[in-house]
Amino acid sequence: MSAPSSIDWQQRARQLTVDVRPIIDGERVDVRIDGRGDMHGGERGEVGEGRFDSVNPHDGRVVASLASCGEADVDAAVLSARRTFEQGTWSRISAHERSRTLLRFADEIERHQEELALLDSLEMGMPISSALPDVALAARIVRSTAERLDKLSEQVLPSAAHTLALNLRVPHGVVAAITPWNFPLYVALGKIVPALGMGNSVVLKPSEIASLSCLRLGDLAMAAGLPAGALNVLPGLGRETGRLLALHNDVDCLSFTGSTTTGRVLMQYAGQSNLKALLLECGGKSPQLVFDDLGDLDAVAESLVQGFVWNCGQVCVAGTRILVTRALYAPLLQRLSALVESQRGGDPLQPSTVLGPLANRVQLERVGAMVDAARRDGATIVAGGARDTAAGGCHYRPTLIADLPHAHVFMQEEIFGPVAGILPFDGVEQALQLANDSRYGLSATLWTRDVALAHGLVRRVRGGPVTVNAVASPGPGHVSGSSVEPAGASGFGAEGGTAGLMAYTRAKSVHYRLG
Ligand code: ADP
Repeated sequence: MSAPSSIDWQQRARQLTVDVRPIIDGERVDVRIDGRGDMHGGERGEVGEGRFDSVNPHDGRVVASLASCGEADVDAAVLSARRTFEQGTWSRISAHERSRTLLRFADEIERHQEELALLDSLEMGMPISSALPDVALAARIVRSTAERLDKLSEQVLPSAAHTLALNLRVPHGVVAAITPWNFPLYVALGKIVPALGMGNSVVLKPSEIASLSCLRLGDLAMAAGLPAGALNVLPGLGRETGRLLALHNDVDCLSFTGSTTTGRVLMQYAGQSNLKALLLECGGKSPQLVFDDLGDLDAVAESLVQGFVWNCGQVCVAGTRILVTRALYAPLLQRLSALVESQRGGDPLQPSTVLGPLANRVQLERVGAMVDAARRDGATIVAGGARDTAAGGCHYRPTLIADLPHAHVFMQEEIFGPVAGILPFDGVEQALQLANDSRYGLSATLWTRDVALAHGLVRRVRGGPVTVNAVASPGPGHVSGSSVEPAGASGFGAEGGTAGLMAYTRAKSVHYRLG
């Protein structure tokens, strides 16, 4: 791979050709246009009857125009997934063979990482400087997941003589994955690889805002030798393709990452259809707790900012509630103010750009409205607080807000932008009470050098990943084998590690009488 800085990404973007067709039963096929629902143009780039555009949020250009998969496509994809599952060409081969195919898939992803990173960057604005390591990390996780597969074991239970009792895990069957736009490729791989690894067939519906890298993943999986039908990829609108998949009676498990609002709807769809198993990773409003024993406040301030500005704050585990011991509140606020104010957005395709735009106009308006509501209700805008007109497009200046009650909507709602609120606390118990005073329970970060204090809190603070003295983000700190599970309105179901693999299986016990 060439050094990212030596690549002319603009030129690469101009040379890019994209195939927007879905992948069904191992082939790129045209979307069937009959029998469509009532699709009207809307705020997300939809352009009318069953079509939508993905739009570059930096320069407003249309990246691709796609047809939304309808009922016939969804049925065909689910049927193909089911047929492959029943044939056993994927579901019943050995874990070792599945592992080998998925390792080849990781190779393919690595071989195409520049193209994949470029697609995510163009569609949702992630700077290429982040998108490249994001793809590399995703490939690493595919590899470590694949390597885990043939090391799992099932259980032989103690039982009477001439009997044999086993606890087995079996795949669900057909898994639908509905994924978001904030890390289009990374989140999709985090679902399809464990699902495939455990023998399921998968139908993936990426976000309509960023579908192209996921479609390429479908091609690469086939190139790696995955049998036709084991992975189908259907681009489409949430309320059409996503809804049809979630309501489908032949989908056994639905794995979703996205907003809590959509998560609730999907629970209803599961209830209205076949009571499919659900894995939901929804919103978050994660606390960063700063205790008073820290040495280098400058370094802490930098990490705190990274915790909510990274990927323009469009990170479900973003640390957007900064809770600081009163003794450090004033000195930290001063440092944070200068740091946040110094952040500048730029062209995502410039290798030096660290901060990109928000993913689309809807996000831009939402972030602006939430900051305006805080301002109207008497908040202090410590830094930022407006669009980044110099950078243009959907850029919004990183923003830190103080002096709001913790109950204020700005402190309670997931906003998905580079914006955070800061509040002081008095004592450990108040810190914990504030941290857990949220309907969400996705992740938490503790800043302290006191290990006893930290370890006393890690089990009590709500959230799956709890990081101590590091921001909760996928990145170089990712530890292979880590498992997380959200709480409250953040959803349910394990992701990562062995627990994340088991989530794509069902428990089954067997009892033999032998003679
Ligand atoms: P966001 O608001 O951040 O885009 P969403 O929860 O709306 O998050 O979207 C996450 C994923 O859920 C996307 O793939 C989207 O198309 C899909 N989606 C949205 N609404 C529905 C729905 N009613 N049924 C099924 N999928 C949906």
